[in-house]
Amino acid sequence: MDAIHVLLIEDEKKIADTLAKGLRELDYEVDIAYDGKIGLRLFEANKFDLVITDINLPGINGFDLCRAIRSTNQQVPVIMLTALGATDDKIEGFDSGADDYLVKPFEFKELLVRIRALLKRTVNQQLPTGNILKVADLELNVDSKAVTREGRDINLTAKEFQLLEYFMRNRNRVVSRADIAEKVWDLDFDTRTNVIDVYVNFLRKKIETGAASRLIHTQVGMGYIMKEK
Ligand code: CA
Repeated sequence: MDAIHVLLIEDEKKIADTLAKGLRELDYEVDIAYDGKIGLRLFEANKFDLVITDINLPGINGFDLCRAIRSTNQQVPVIMLTALGATDDKIEGFDSGADDYLVKPFEFKELLVRIRALLKRTVNQQLPTGNILKVADLELNVDSKAVTREGRDINLTAKEFQLLEYFMRNRNRVVSRADIAEKVWDLDFDTRTNVIDVYVNFLRKKIETGAASRLIHTQVGMGYIMKEK
């Protein structure tokens, strides 16, 4: 059997390194990120069997990180670590899609018990659809780059594809033009240009014309939101 691949996201270096060392001694393969954004990038670029994340992190916090993971992957077990024991944090942790929650300080063997329980649950439940994003009847295959709506193929340019993928990964969330400029164009947003609105309109025409419902909605003064309505 291949080693279990764990992604550990924790900005307290001493804790991260100690946990990683303990897990590696038990033959787990461990990647560490000391920053939430880097952790998310690692998650998107690799295949992990389990994610352990702190909540208060530089970059993005553990709740947002977990939501981002869940927007593309419902299966991977996520354990949250935090120094905060407040009930509200636990609720938000579970709401954001975490499977389990450990309050610091905890014993290493307690973490191991949780890890083993979660892995047992997910073994043999790997679904083949992990790389398909869906909103209503719109589907985007991250691997093959195919996009379909109501089963019919939609041809997109590379930029339109990236824009659609960004909307789908952030479904039900308002994204500003500045977010889109940064994430899709890798640019600082320039309010004098309307390039984003132009591309959003191209994309709308391709995915909404002839379809039963609109999926990209304008939020006046704020940006756009992709959702079913
Ligand atoms: Ca922290």
